[in-house]
Amino acid sequence: MRKILIVGAGQSGLQLALGLQSKGYEITLMSNRTADEIRGGRVMSTQCMFRTALGHERDLALNFWDELAPRVEGLGLSVAGPPASGGHPRVVDWVGRLHGHAQNVDQRIKMAGWMETFEQRGGQVVIHGAAVSDLDVLDRKYDLALVAAGKGELVSLFDRDAARSPYDTPRRALAVAYVHGLGPRPEHPDFDAVRCNLVPGVGELFVMPALTTTGRADILFWEGVPGGPVDAFRGITDPSEHLERVLELMEWFTPWEYARATKVELTDAGGTLSGRYAPTVRHPIGRLPGGGLVLGVADVVVANDPITGQGSNSAAKCAATYLASIVEHGDRPFDEEWMRTTFDRYWQSARHVTRWTNTMLAPPPEHIVNLLAAGTTFPAVAHRIANGFDDPSDFEHFFYEPEKTAAYLDEVREEAEAAEAAAALAAAEAESEADDGAEADDGAGIGGGAEAIRSVR
Ligand SMILES: Cc1cc2nc3c(=O)[nH]c(=O)nc-3n(C[C@H](O)[C@H](O)[C@H](O)COP(=O)(O)OP(=O)(O)OC[C@H]3O[C@@H](n4cnc5c(N)ncnc54)[C@H](O)[C@@H]3O)c2cc1C
Repeated sequence: MRKILIVGAGQSGLQLALGLQSKGYEITLMSNRTADEIRGGRVMSTQCMFRTALGHERDLALNFWDELAPRVEGLGLSVAGPPASGGHPRVVDWVGRLHGHAQNVDQRIKMAGWMETFEQRGGQVVIHGAAVSDLDVLDRKYDLALVAAGKGELVSLFDRDAARSPYDTPRRALAVAYVHGLGPRPEHPDFDAVRCNLVPGVGELFVMPALTTTGRADILFWEGVPGGPVDAFRGITDPSEHLERVLELMEWFTPWEYARATKVELTDAGGTLSGRYAPTVRHPIGRLPGGGLVLGVADVVVANDPITGQGSNSAAKCAATYLASIVEHGDRPFDEEWMRTTFDRYWQSARHVTRWTNTMLAPPPEHIVNLLAAGTTFPAVAHRIANGFDDPSDFEHFFYEPEKTAAYLDEVREEAEAAEAAAALAAAEAESEADDGAEADDGAGIGGGAEAIRSVR
């Protein structure tokens, strides 16, 4: 039986540990915290996961919270205009429907639950904050050592890949509050959606439904441009003061979100988080002082800013790719070439996430502004952008180059016009049939045409 060491019990480390365990590998998992410490500790993320990532969890039957977590059916975007009296107005507002629903399970619940499951199934958990010196000794006892320790200190084993890391300082200051008592968006009270609110030059507010340790909740997540008005959480240690600041910023910059947040309260004392980090891609192979090699997993090697909500999705995709590469490799040695090939396979999807995320961190060029605004007029655009959160490779086809964006918008406009013309024709025919005294139409033709218009406008 092949023996594998995994350092780090987060989304990628645990998913991989449980996946390999189910295939008969002997896994040792090192975590710097116990399951109880994770469950009773501070929130770590906002972790909304989309269809593909959820599929990887389902493939391993790890979707324990499907019945409890809110079904997130849509993803909306609002853009704030220049300030007026009483705050910033909304100048763009749309919601796209997701092809498959998304889901958000507080990592405190998921990681604690998965760690206990891993142990119950006979896995070995070592509670210890691993240092490089530990790995140097341990590495020799295993066929493969994987470092899935997130953005912790062990990243120092992996060199920064400057060619793939355009930023060397944090691009956003992050501030999260988990709350109970948030009302629905009055325009769409009938389904749950992630709401992305862009405040140009200032930052972004994300609002997302979640399952937390105290039940159904919503997450308020500010990303502030460093040095700007939303970069306002340094030094705040009191959770109530943190929430107060989150709400004050919402009242001025996103009053439409504040309107439904006037009765919120924190879910628990660990329900806030703030910080910042520089988005970084690293070389995937770490060399230990004694010469052994370790392979980095997920955030260790590709840490993007959470502005596009991709990190735990990417961690799930990375774990699924590595699982397949390990199993396919059979009994052959996990050498440097295998490690490189395994990472390259993951990079085929990760590169799209990194490109899109780094694009969103920069001030948007005009064609992207126009594209985002077009979602209000054309639901087809809103749906396509929303579903890009599940598969960011689609953005290659219509997002980055002005020519491709223009061609896509022309196509959508033409389809909308054709649908409108078809609807008008159907309406005219129905009217003339009625005039001819023909049997009364039940309206299905008109309804169908109107439906077609609604799907593209
Ligand atoms: C504020 C914020 C909001 C976010 N929002 C989203 C979102 O909406 N959607 C999304 O998909 N992603 C989001 N992310 C990103 C996402 O949480 C991470 O990308 C994802 O959790 C990474 O998974 P991982 O397995 O690589 O690492 P982690 O989940 O960070 O797990 C690493 C684990 O290793 C442990 N560890 C660290 N060092 C050691 C050590 N030396 N020894 C032993 N154990 C160690 C840590 O305690 C941790 O348990 C967000 C992140 C932040 C900070």
